[in-house]
Amino acid sequence: MMDEENKIKFSGSLSCPIPKSDYDKILLTHGGGGTLSHKLIAKLFYPQFANEILDQQHDSGVFDVNGVKIAFTTDSYVVQPIFFTGGDIGSLSVNGTINDLSVAGAKPLFISAAFIIEEGFEIEELWEIVLSMQKAAKEAGVKIITGDTKVVDRGKGDKIFINTSGIGIVPEGVNISPKNCKPGDVIILSGKIAEHGVAIMSSRENLEFETTIKSDTAPLNSLVEKMLNASKEIHMMRDPTRGGVASTLNEIAMTAKVGILIEEEKIPISEEVKGACEILGLDPLYIANEGKLIAFVPENKAMEVLEAMRSHPLGKEACIIGKVTSSDPETVIMKTSIGSNRILDMMSGEQLPRIC
Ligand code: MG
Repeated sequence: MMDEENKIKFSGSLSCPIPKSDYDKILLTHGGGGTLSHKLIAKLFYPQFANEILDQQHDSGVFDVNGVKIAFTTDSYVVQPIFFTGGDIGSLSVNGTINDLSVAGAKPLFISAAFIIEEGFEIEELWEIVLSMQKAAKEAGVKIITGDTKVVDRGKGDKIFINTSGIGIVPEGVNISPKNCKPGDVIILSGKIAEHGVAIMSSRENLEFETTIKSDTAPLNSLVEKMLNASKEIHMMRDPTRGGVASTLNEIAMTAKVGILIEEEKIPISEEVKGACEILGLDPLYIANEGKLIAFVPENKAMEVLEAMRSHPLGKEACIIGKVTSSDPETVIMKTSIGSNRILDMMSGEQLPRIC
């Protein structure tokens, strides 16, 4: 424990930017990808770690080394349960990092794998996870080139947590950044939403219900490569993971200081997912996806990019869901199927903790 004197030395004269009257303890919701996560990052992390690369507010930090544009990212996986329909924590941890590099326009090359394992965890289960990671890495054409293994006491972890970091190269002429979004840009979604979140929920012991919905976890690098071959002018891409499509669009609208208008009817969703969301009382627009992306494309390139996406197995159901506007900056508005306009806020509570 830090004694009082060291604590003062450590924190200097700065007082904690989140007053105790707001929150004095971390809540599960602080990790949910919604409003509380964003406040934590914006108030505690950003101002202290600030630099021009972090300020890009991108899924990867992109920087130049001797004329080569490099993308670097990291992500931790705490999904519960660790094995679920359509995947497991291993494949998720590889695909998730590949996707954060891919949506920055990078070709993923290498990743790291760090394991925090609870004492008593079954070695057979660890083996399953290792095989799954190896398969996912091979499928995406990346190599796992460094790693770490730590074990914590029984009861001090929950089976296994995995952190992966990744590095990739951004091809010449590609410049993907939230700040590039402009009024008039067309917004394309690569496929049906909310499958990962619903699959996880249906695998939870206390919430088990009959469904065949599978997690959509998949590596998006070959889809992105096809899109960039169609046009290098894509302005922005992001994978709508925690917080779902609605939170992702809000993040982008805020960073780019633009308005976003989408149409409910255009958003692809399976009847089965829709039904499950109704039973669970969840809004699919706020549910995590792990194999989908949203692209912001100049209007005159939209059809070429859309066609390229539809020619790829992971983009065959891609469609245009809306556009960027100059009215209502930093706001996401959805035209509902009954014709009214609804403001889509960032997720405020926690629909589902430990979803990835
Ligand atoms: Mg992401």
